[in-house]
Amino acid sequence: MADVRLRVAPSPTGDPHVGTAYVSLFDLAFARQQGGDFVLRVEDTDRARFREDSEQQIYDTLHWLGLDWDEGPDKGGPFAPYRQSERLDTYRPVAEKLVADGVAYYCWCTPERLTQMREAQQKAKQPTGYDRLCVGKSREEREALAADGGPGFSPTPVVRMLIPEDVPLAFDDLIRGEVHAPRPDDQVILKADGFPTYHLAVVVDDHLMGITHVVRGEEWISSTPKHLLLYDWLGWDRPAFAHMPLLRNVDKSKISKRKNPAARLTWFVEEGYLPEALRNFLALMGYSMPDGREIFSFEEMVESFDWGRVNAVGPVFDLDKLGWLNGHYIRALPGDELAERIVAYLGVEGDKADLVREATPLVQERMTVLREAREMLGFLVDDEFAFDPAAATKFLGVEQRPTLQAARDAIAGLGEWSTAAIEAALRSSLIDGLGLKPKHAFGPVRVAVTGRTVSPPLFESIELLGQAEALTRLDQALSL
Ligand code: GLU
Repeated sequence: MADVRLRVAPSPTGDPHVGTAYVSLFDLAFARQQGGDFVLRVEDTDRARFREDSEQQIYDTLHWLGLDWDEGPDKGGPFAPYRQSERLDTYRPVAEKLVADGVAYYCWCTPERLTQMREAQQKAKQPTGYDRLCVGKSREEREALAADGGPGFSPTPVVRMLIPEDVPLAFDDLIRGEVHAPRPDDQVILKADGFPTYHLAVVVDDHLMGITHVVRGEEWISSTPKHLLLYDWLGWDRPAFAHMPLLRNVDKSKISKRKNPAARLTWFVEEGYLPEALRNFLALMGYSMPDGREIFSFEEMVESFDWGRVNAVGPVFDLDKLGWLNGHYIRALPGDELAERIVAYLGVEGDKADLVREATPLVQERMTVLREAREMLGFLVDDEFAFDPAAATKFLGVEQRPTLQAARDAIAGLGEWSTAAIEAALRSSLIDGLGLKPKHAFGPVRVAVTGRTVSPPLFESIELLGQAEALTRLDQALSL
């Protein structure tokens, strides 16, 4: 058997979709297990939806996730180019051969005629589809029809597949077994602008690039009979197919970038999820380990990988579960490694980075995503310090002045600067001295030195901040 070759084929139409990572993960798990190759191909033939920066975002997010490819537009490889817009010369001769063989035909119908036809079909409650007006006609015959207000003629034709009556609609899927798809319409394979449609380009490229297993979302099931016809017409070996279940929102609708921020891969980077947690989560969405465990590494998935263990039913994209996994991975990281991840996430350097490193043990148990480090450690590293207005109103009012003043004096009088000394001084002055309950004693101090009501442990925070800065902030709170 030929070496296995899998590919992911995203279209650069905006922020990369989480489905691209999901499919890549499964491609890669199988390719690595079999010692095969994983190819990244950019399907950029839809010029209307093309977005310039999207391709780089695909590279960046997949790299971030640790899902690396063996061949691709940025890496080259034996089947370059890997960008479809650079392969346009490849597709037209294939379309022309299909026309010459009588299995495809030119169609000169105008977009207006096609729209009218579809509207009339819908009105009559008939199935929509091309009515084959152009089948069997030469250009001249078809143009003549248009004279005197006949059906509109467009001088640049498209090429359509002539779907036979007996088109096979069933095929084998590695995940689903035998699948039945609906009967297709006479699909356009070459557009008027000379660009192939997805259906032609995907088959030609998968064949030329030696792809053995096509893994893609279940939304492509209805296209597969057309693709299989193309393989058969061209005398090419069919690859195996695996249609992954679509990721779904809690209400079971398909995850879309318009409705769910978590459909965008860059969102996970922005929020501060760990790549290993997202990888585990995406695997868990479609795969069950033989022993049912939920926390597992990519390497463990590779070892046990089996298409029979992939779910056919669309998993609900449960962000609570992802948060749980992410918290687990954060707590499991060695402290110094987590510190470097937080430093990189916050983009801090020098002394500030050192402060973050020192503060990391204070927040490691308290975080679900790295974004929370920004909130909790902002008081140490932000260029501008400010009290949260709501917290200031509640905790830094006139009634709290005696507390804040006593705290200031206690801290100012400290000769030794340590967590224990700070704690002892504040307890003795606020709790023993003023007779306050801990909540009333330390709440105002916390807001004064960290600006917020939620922070890492108070005495450690004050120590990290340093005596001078702690006093400055207490003075600032007193002057409100
Ligand atoms: N370009 C298609 C997409 O963006 C690829 C589908 C396939 O893998 O065949 O989903």
